[in-house]
Amino acid sequence: MPRRLGQHFLRSASVERLLKVIDPRPAEHFLEIGPGAGAMTLPLAPRVASLTAIELDAALADRLQPRLPANVTLIRGDALAVDLRALCPPGTRLVGNLPYYISSPLLRRFLDLRDRIADLHVMLQDEVASRVASPPGSKEYGVLSVLWGLWADLDVPLRFPPGAFEPPPKVDSAVLRVRPLPAPREPVDDPVGFERFVLQAFRQRRRTLENNLQDSYPHLKHHLRLLNIAGSRRAETLSVVEFARLFSALGRSD
Ligand code: SAM
Repeated sequence: MPRRLGQHFLRSASVERLLKVIDPRPAEHFLEIGPGAGAMTLPLAPRVASLTAIELDAALADRLQPRLPANVTLIRGDALAVDLRALCPPGTRLVGNLPYYISSPLLRRFLDLRDRIADLHVMLQDEVASRVASPPGSKEYGVLSVLWGLWADLDVPLRFPPGAFEPPPKVDSAVLRVRPLPAPREPVDDPVGFERFVLQAFRQRRRTLENNLQDSYPHLKHHLRLLNIAGSRRAETLSVVEFARLFSALGRSD
């Protein structure tokens, strides 16, 4: 099997473990990233109303197409480039054993679907899944944990060793589960500005908030004091709500 395009195919025992956690229902629409040879697509399709799958590898898509039931639409394209929103009617469930080499940009793209998706279950490198789902205060907590954490509950319900795949990857894998909340944990008026702010707060992880943010926000110290957040803290210690409150306060005065 070629290793290009992050191709590690799920063995059937692993697919069943994964589908048990996903718990698909007959009325639901699914969007799958990277169906490959159909390891998940083929057992999932008969259990759901409809499924759209996006595959970049034309040879794999050619082989999969004739095996697909009528409720599956296969799109040949790059999941980083196609208009995912157009493929996500409200309530869509997003799944995939992701190509690990692009898992971070994909997770960022999925964030823009937060108002459309009922949930998301994606296989990732364990390190990445754990990082995104980790709580504040841990070394792993970072930009994606904050951005997703504002809008969703995150956890890692399953872990898989390399042997769950063919060929086995070099790393352990895990399923990241994301369940968007009906409203963000704390309102944020300008999500794009919030993302810039969080990126900047984490710019140099080992520096303090003040060091990372002072140049861009002249009133930083004042608002930190009002919100009772010590400027000597590092970004990785701030909760999602603290991030959102600080951002909103700075937006009102800077
Ligand atoms: N779902 C299959 C399985 O579990 O056996 C395959 C998973 S494999 C880890 C990742 C799949 O994503 C491969 O089929 C690969 O060709 C496809 N892929 C890689 N890059 C992609 C991209 N940018 N857009 C869509 N699919 C991509």
